[in-house]
Amino acid sequence: MQDAPSRGKLAFRTQGITKTYGAGEAAVHALRGVDLEVPSGELIVLLGASGSGKSTLLNILGGLDRASKGRAQFFEAELTEMSDAELTMYRRKHVGFVFQFYNLMPSLTAFENVELVTEIADNPLDPAEALSLVGLKERMDHFPAQLSGGEQQRVAIARTLAAAPEVVLYDEPLANLDPERRRGLRALIRRLAREHGTTLVYVTHDPAEALEIGDEIAVMEEGRIIERGAPEDVYARPTSLAGARALGPITVLHGTWDGETLQTPLGDVPATNLQAGPGPCRVVWRPESLRAGGVGPVEVVVDDVVARGPDWAFVARLDGHEIRGRSADRLEVGASVRVTPGAPAAVLAPEATLATRREEATA
Ligand code: ADP
Ligand code: MG
Repeated sequence: MQDAPSRGKLAFRTQGITKTYGAGEAAVHALRGVDLEVPSGELIVLLGASGSGKSTLLNILGGLDRASKGRAQFFEAELTEMSDAELTMYRRKHVGFVFQFYNLMPSLTAFENVELVTEIADNPLDPAEALSLVGLKERMDHFPAQLSGGEQQRVAIARTLAAAPEVVLYDEPLANLDPERRRGLRALIRRLAREHGTTLVYVTHDPAEALEIGDEIAVMEEGRIIERGAPEDVYARPTSLAGARALGPITVLHGTWDGETLQTPLGDVPATNLQAGPGPCRVVWRPESLRAGGVGPVEVVVDDVVARGPDWAFVARLDGHEIRGRSADRLEVGASVRVTPGAPAAVLAPEATLATRREEATA
């Protein structure tokens, strides 16, 4: 195993990883062939609904679990070929975990909780320094029960920092915290990873969190990675309906692309992000590309309006389809409005659906 991994190399590389729990009728296919590359020093987010296989993948990368098939490498080392003892050594030497539950020892102070891991680490940080970095210098002598949830999670982060591992694996670490704390800790997690050159794999089901934390986002669905790219790309140029929906609300309408004009029920729109040949297609927009007002050819009926601050988000209906857009002014529920459509985020083949599972059943 490598002691001085450099930037630019792959910290992780998996090929065709599958994971099946149980057998026969009761078998659960948690991972169905995952190829993933994580360059050293990069912050990658695994985003997906509950049950999509995020934790299973994370645990295999961290040596807490084993793949059923496929290869997983940490730099040059083959995790899939390690003995249990080697996997344990790998975890101790190279990997830090932060889970949703803080797993602090209740009978130890914040300082002692952090100190505990520095005793078995190769190049540990001073526990007091690690606690200062997460803003808990003044609370070092407090016990977990005397700290808020956010503070306890900061102790858990300090504990991982102090061990100074090359990779830190986060599994929904902020899910139990209030929004304010979450924002602060996201920024902290990013900053510390950057400053220490740590490789981060961060699991979440929250698109806002994924967009904020990731250098790259891998969207998982049904045990597969269905989208992968920079946050702005997976948001603005998804390649599938499921991938589009994973990053936030979308509108999907049938359209026609004739090679020159992209016609939709809301009017002609620029043919951007075209992934379908000439003929019928499905057109996908983000809400900010559908503005209320203007001179569109049809009126839509407003179902719901929510204030966002700078503008309003509305949901409207058009022939049974949901239209999700933005409005500069407050709209009345039940009102009819015209919509000015902007550039689509994706123009997909007409048969594009959300149901991967159904495709498999017929495959
Ligand atoms: P996520 O973290 O995305 O919510 P998981 O990786 O935890 O998803 O789980 C993926 C699938 O594998 C789910 O259907 C889950 O029920 C199943 N699963 C996870 N762990 C086990 C296990 N130890 N035994 C049986 N099924 C499991
Ligand atoms: Mg999970």
